[in-house]
This record gives sequence, C-alpha cells and structure tokens, in this order.
Amino acid sequence: MQSVKNAVRHILEKGLNLISPCSCFLCGMNACRDEIPVCGDCIGTFYRMLNTPCPSCGRAISGCDCSGETLAFLFWYSPGEAHRIIGAVKNDADRRMIRFFAELLALRIKQLHKKPFEAVTYIPRRKKGIRAAGYDQAKLLAEETAKALRVPCVAMLRRHGSEEQKLLSASERRKTMKNRYSVIRDNVVSESGEPYARVLLIDDVCTTGATLDACSALLRQEGIKQVISAVIAKTPKKEGWMTLG
Ligand SMILES: [Zn+2]
Ligand SMILES: [Zn+2]
Repeated sequence: MQSVKNAVRHILEKGLNLISPCSCFLCGMNACRDEIPVCGDCIGTFYRMLNTPCPSCGRAISGCDCSGETLAFLFWYSPGEAHRIIGAVKNDADRRMIRFFAELLALRIKQLHKKPFEAVTYIPRRKKGIRAAGYDQAKLLAEETAKALRVPCVAMLRRHGSEEQKLLSASERRKTMKNRYSVIRDNVVSESGEPYARVLLIDDVCTTGATLDACSALLRQEGIKQVISAVIAKTPKKEGWMTLG
C-alpha cells in the first residue's frame, strides 16, 4: 500500500508532461498542480480511497479476495467520489488521466502478482459508448498499463451486439455474457506460435465480475493458461451497494 501512495506522490512530483491545464477529477473545480488530474484539496481524499479496507472482510484493499481471487484494483466502486471518478474515466478522460490510473494500477499489479505477464488485453467497450465518448477507456487503460509493465498490449476480444446489460441480474448476465464477446484468434498467439501463457485482462470497473469471468473463460478456451484481471475500481460485496455496469 505504502508504495502506491509513494507512487502517487512520485507521479505528482515528476508531472506527466502535460500540455493543457486540467481540472481535478474529484472536485472538477480546481486546476491541478503541475497539471496532474487531482488537486491539492482532494489529494487527501484520494489517498484515503486508495487505503479503504474491504467492507466485508476488513482486509487491506490489496489483500481482499472476497470474490475468490485477488483482483488488482485501486479503490472501491461506491457512491460518491468513486462514481465520479469512474464517470470521468468513461466519458471525460484524456490520456494523461488514464495514464495516472494506469501507473498506479501497474504498481498494485506488481504488488499482487510477482510473476510477470506476457501480454495485456482488455474488455472492449460498446461501439455506441466509443462513439459517444470518442474513445474506449479500457483500451486506453490497457495500453498505458502495458507500457508501465513493459509488455505488449494486444486486442484479443471483440464485442458484439448492443443490448443493455445494466438491468440484468448477475446470473442472467453470466448466461448471455459469453455471446457478447468473441476471441480474435490470431491475436492470442504469441511470436512463439503458441497461445500466450499468462495474460492480464483490463477493464475500468468490476461490479458483478460477470464480464471479466466470461471473457477470461473465452480466452482460456483458446489456450491461454492464466488470465488475471485488474480494474480501477471494484464494487464491494455488500448488500445495498450499487451495481451499475
Ligand atoms: Zn479537487
Ligand atoms: Zn474482502
């Protein structure tokens, strides 16, 4: 945990070679020191978010495995600041904001997973979402995370259809989820001619986990032995928390 905090400080200090001024992703108001996406007033709140223990098991955010696996993520996807940040990531981000989260995420991934990955891939966004926002946030996040981890970013999944998923229950989602994606077969094969053995699968948010599960299963069906997921924010396992997407 400490090292993620240090990384925030480090990123803040070194700057991200930004050209245009940016406003804080938390308050949306203050311009950011060194043009980094979080202002001095909000940095304390952001540190606290990175440090909030699991509301179910009480363990540190990097040690919670309530969902059965140790998912690398930065903060809980809960109402308030976290929803605001993810809203910005989905609809209003630029590469520097994504890079900020990617550098932190890469750090947490390295804390959790000592064994390196051969490639990074991502859950593609719906075409409609890409048209509306002008980008695919998971793809950008995967590209920047891959850069930080010094491995290639490869598009391995294709997305079909456009039916709204938000209103379905977790089990309903699982049934239909696999049909929404397919694997780009040529891209799961590494230069060795064999499928990649160990791949990092990136998305912005994990709510029920159904999408990540379905896509991991598809990739494993194509011969990838280990698919490990990482997201910016994860919905805590607790009744009453919102599950949005
Ligand atoms: Zn702020
Ligand atoms: Zn937990």
